[in-house]
Amino acid sequence: VVLSADAVDRLDVVGADLTVDGRRFVHLDYAASAPCVRAAADAVRDLLPYYGSVHRGAGLRSQRSTLAYERARDIVAEFVGARDGDTVIFTRNTTDSLNLLARALPAGTTTIVFDGEHHANLLPWPSPVRLPAPADPDEAVQEVRSAFESVRGPALLAVTGASNVTGEIWPVRALADVAHSYGGRVLLDAAQLAPHRPVNLSELGADYVAFSGHKLYAPFGAGVLAGRGDWLDAAEPYLRGGGASLSVGDHDVTWATGPARHEGGTPNLVGAVALAAVCEALMQADRAKLDEHERALLAALPAGVTLFGGRQPRVGIVSYALPDPVAVADRLGREHGIGVRAGMFCAHPLVRRLGGDGDCGTGGLLRVSFGLGTTHDDIDRLCGILFP
Ligand code: PMP
Repeated sequence: VVLSADAVDRLDVVGADLTVDGRRFVHLDYAASAPCVRAAADAVRDLLPYYGSVHRGAGLRSQRSTLAYERARDIVAEFVGARDGDTVIFTRNTTDSLNLLARALPAGTTTIVFDGEHHANLLPWPSPVRLPAPADPDEAVQEVRSAFESVRGPALLAVTGASNVTGEIWPVRALADVAHSYGGRVLLDAAQLAPHRPVNLSELGADYVAFSGHKLYAPFGAGVLAGRGDWLDAAEPYLRGGGASLSVGDHDVTWATGPARHEGGTPNLVGAVALAAVCEALMQADRAKLDEHERALLAALPAGVTLFGGRQPRVGIVSYALPDPVAVADRLGREHGIGVRAGMFCAHPLVRRLGGDGDCGTGGLLRVSFGLGTTHDDIDRLCGILFP
């Protein structure tokens, strides 16, 4: 199958020709923030001449903006395979989405997380049951089973789709099946999975999914929380203010239900439209072909650290335990025009376990992460310096 020319163009990286010291700048830090693709840039450009306040005005600008915002929501709903009763809420980023859900949990909900999570999926949950980062996918399933055995009442497993440190894809479906067999729910932190693989709620067995636009080839400032609407509609509004309230009396407030309940204030229309434009372009793309390119680039890199010892596939993220990673990253940036990241990657328990001792300033690991727009030449340039 050949990608249509249009689909390829829409996923072209904007700024791929950025140069430093006369050579192409090699960006290998997609896991932190990915560059913008043409679909997002075009959507923003088309929106700027007419944008206005969403949901708040009778004029042309406001009406078109409201339509654009709700269309963006519909596209995201399709991207995550939203089911009946699911809600799509626009947030600032994954961290915001996870904090929102953490505040929306019914009283007495037990949350269960692995130690291998990004801090955004460790810290928002109130007194979570913390499971040790498993050594393989079967162990992960066993740990979740025994955690659910001892839980009474509502429970939520919050798990990442792909590790921001090792790039390994977590066995989400198997974990979700266990959670559901005990009547529990599952939140998928798809910050790193969504840029690389489809994130369909039904196929992955997730009840909620969260991700960020800036890791999904759109500009900053917009994220998504999508999933079952019942807890969200029953919860206190996340942001109290205009838009979230239907009617305000002297002593009482009637709050909206649906996405508006948690999207108080003027929403980030530009961010939502850009994010949705990428979702649309990805849905139209030949994902198998994109995966094939990513796998070929991965194969050109030494394996790096792993949690599951090579038993799970990985997305375009590889981390290395080597001496003085921060100095190495600094040198790659200053002397070679290659941008990577070193440190603890907001996943301190996992990075320590993988041998990245030290603190954020000096220790940790060196991470290489890539995606759309990365070429074999980029990887060769890195390897020529790091692994001659
Ligand atoms: N989860 C994972 C797995 C991540 O990699 C990140 C970002 N590094 C986040 C959550 C948080 O994303 P954001 O900073 O966009 O809120």
